[in-house]
Amino acid sequence: MLNIGCHLSSSKGFYHMGEESLSIDANTFQFFTRNPRGGSAKDIDPQDAQKLNELMKEKKFAKILAHAPYTLNACAKVESIREFAHNTMLDDLKRMEFVPGNMYNFHPGSHVEQGVETGIKLISDQLNAILWEDMHTTVLLETMAGKGSEVGSRFEELREIIDRVELKDKMGVCLDTCHVYDAGYDIVGDLDGVLTQFDKIIGLERLQAIHINDSKNPFMSHKDRHEKIGEGSIGTEAFERIINHSELRNLPFFLETPNDLEGYAAEIKLLKSLYK
Ligand code: FE
Ligand code: FE
Ligand code: ZN
Repeated sequence: MLNIGCHLSSSKGFYHMGEESLSIDANTFQFFTRNPRGGSAKDIDPQDAQKLNELMKEKKFAKILAHAPYTLNACAKVESIREFAHNTMLDDLKRMEFVPGNMYNFHPGSHVEQGVETGIKLISDQLNAILWEDMHTTVLLETMAGKGSEVGSRFEELREIIDRVELKDKMGVCLDTCHVYDAGYDIVGDLDGVLTQFDKIIGLERLQAIHINDSKNPFMSHKDRHEKIGEGSIGTEAFERIINHSELRNLPFFLETPNDLEGYAAEIKLLKSLYK
């Protein structure tokens, strides 16, 4: 069975996202832990979280994916910005304990003139300060498109971050198809080659989730503009190979395409029809 879901609004709580997923034939979903531009989060309703836990068990959901606000910058030059990222991520991860056994994805950050090595060091320092031994969430680094001074557009950079993290068993990677294609990994012409590279550099066992997005821009554009499945430069045939690939087919796939719920439902239907 294809494990697939889409990005949903968390404004009505956990259980609502579970039900919304079922209504579009999805068995997982992604959500922002709080306003995507940062800011404070609503208090967790433990009963609401527990209702989702039960629903997920009953309906055999795949792991769900929380997404950190995308403005967080763990490797900012300014200390107060790094501190904000620290506090937000730590708070998010504490909240994730209400839905244990799932995943939390974040953008590694932008090093802004400090250089990628400094960026990598700051990000891993921050993870070392945040992660704790008996937490129940896997933290995923997202592969980035490489716009501006983003860290994480090369597999080597993600590997270096993980290398420096002490609690490595808490760490994984989320591969975003739009981002890696924009970054210059040819998942259209040479999917096997890209996955071999991923395996050699990071290790495929770290790959825990896929953001499945087409791209508005051509290969290696370093742009990061998502497109609907089949309407961008990656194309339906490449997605058919991606969801069926022996190394990927059992992972959870998350759509972050420009869509409303109906559009997501149609993409889920399309992708399921292509899944062998
Ligand atoms: Fe993201
Ligand atoms: Fe993404
Ligand atoms: Zn993106």
